[in-house]
Amino acid sequence: MHGVYPGSFDPITKGHLDIIRRAAGLCQQLTIGIGRNSRKAGLFSEAERIGFIEEGLADLENVEVRVFSGLIVDFAHELGAEVLVRGLRNGGDFEFEMALAVTNRSLVHGIETLFLVASPEYAFVSSSLIKEIVRHGGDATRYVSAAVQAGLRQKLANS
Ligand code: ADP
Repeated sequence: MHGVYPGSFDPITKGHLDIIRRAAGLCQQLTIGIGRNSRKAGLFSEAERIGFIEEGLADLENVEVRVFSGLIVDFAHELGAEVLVRGLRNGGDFEFEMALAVTNRSLVHGIETLFLVASPEYAFVSSSLIKEIVRHGGDATRYVSAAVQAGLRQKLANS
């Protein structure tokens, strides 16, 4: 099957990378979709986010990165993908993701959402938590790559 893993990835964490590696083992083809949000500028540009994602996945041949705008189900349909991949960290994610999955299935008949449960070591990792660690001078390299941490230090120093 062809899966799409959508998100903002601003920036990508080792929690996201864990989901990507596991999903890439289940899907023949996996597309990582960076959602373009016209209402909210991200910390990193699309090109920077793509760079960080690709750096972490150079060895995976069945994974590609694309930017999309509009509905995720339309993007998936365009690609011919059958499955949306999402990660679940906790009950909060579950509540939110369930509503999203039901809505997406009502928008495009037959599109399924595949949930992968976060690995325990990354179950509380979020892009916003990482930003806080780095903002206050902490070492976040257990949760993001050294390149992402360096990028965050630079952005947050200028913000
Ligand atoms: P979004 O803005 O769509 O929530 P994110 O980039 O924050 O975008 O997350 C994309 C997907 O990855 C979501 O399904 C989210 O629950 C999941 N995810 C985020 N962080 C982790 C993590 N540490 N472990 C597992 N899944 C995660």
